[in-house]
Amino acid sequence: MQIIEAAVLESVGADQPYAKSKPLKIRSFELMPPGRDEVMVKIRAAGLCHSDLSVISGSRVRPTPMVLGHEAAGIVVGTGPGVEGFTTGDHVVIVFVPSCGHCVPCAEGRPALCEPAATANNEGSLLSGARRLYRNGAPVNHHLGVSAFAEYAVVSKHSVVSIDPALPFDHAALFGCAVITGVGAVLNTARVKAGSTVAVVGLGGVGMNAVLGARLAGARQIIAIDLKDKKLSLSKELGATETVKADNPECAAIVRSLSNGGVDCALEMVGSTSALELAWAITRRGGQTVTAGLPGPDARLSIPALQVVGEERTLRGSYLGSCVPVRDIPNYIDLHQKGLLPVEKLMGETLSLSDINAAFDRLAGGESTRQIILFDDD
Ligand SMILES: [Zn+2]
Ligand SMILES: [Zn+2]
Repeated sequence: MQIIEAAVLESVGADQPYAKSKPLKIRSFELMPPGRDEVMVKIRAAGLCHSDLSVISGSRVRPTPMVLGHEAAGIVVGTGPGVEGFTTGDHVVIVFVPSCGHCVPCAEGRPALCEPAATANNEGSLLSGARRLYRNGAPVNHHLGVSAFAEYAVVSKHSVVSIDPALPFDHAALFGCAVITGVGAVLNTARVKAGSTVAVVGLGGVGMNAVLGARLAGARQIIAIDLKDKKLSLSKELGATETVKADNPECAAIVRSLSNGGVDCALEMVGSTSALELAWAITRRGGQTVTAGLPGPDARLSIPALQVVGEERTLRGSYLGSCVPVRDIPNYIDLHQKGLLPVEKLMGETLSLSDINAAFDRLAGGESTRQIILFDDD
């Protein structure tokens, strides 16, 4: 057992600004050694993602107390019984959906839908059902099997992927959520073809990665849509061919005009039904609308049913970018190292764990793309 510092959410629904209400408290925890099929990782970099924010606000319901953080990279510092293929000193990316390898979705090659992982993630446990974090002897929940806003994390061996140690940790962390979710939505879920037309609604870390993925796939037109001018201009640097402000009342009409009747593939990366309805409205006849945003559990979508048949329209969900992490993370890192996936352009501020609440204010305000918490290497 060792004592670590971590950021815990004790209750949901705090008022903003979070810099004042401080929903995340930096506390000391007891971290148990890794059990069977588990590894201990010294966290070196952890990204702040909208999904963390959704847990803080209560729109994504998770049990508390919970140590948040689900996008991270670090170094293996210990292994439990039954762990082969990982050793102390390995650099790893942690993935927020472990894959058991045995359930039906895993057997079908769709580990993002792993059923035991979904149960564990909903309950706030590791894949084994265990919790390794304690405070004053009481168990504390894990966030998506990761809990990366911490100096160390014990995670399932099915939650980690080995990476090239030459990759800096701050860049590596992005591959655990933003990159696989955004690039994967384009390459795996939508299977965007070279020469096709794409629109991306919402330019957070995931949306920006969808722009990068669309460029990588050879889309001839990439229309980026967001509320913030700063994000629209960054998307142009990443490969967007046109940008449209989301709050323009003519937004859908403008996109349909730019794309001669709608895009082949519109990706919704916000997590709101209005964004998804916009994505649907800008998809062409015969096209597909892909959504990777996570709306609240009570959100309902209203689309004209006749269009689905009469226009052969497709609406497709994308979780974890429909990725196979052990296949896709090394591939995407290789593309990044060859300059074809410049995810470093998405890096926003770096910060220390103690500044986490103010950083979530910036995220909530849509001001930043990807903020990364860096941990010491001592
Ligand atoms: Zn995330
Ligand atoms: Zn499984």
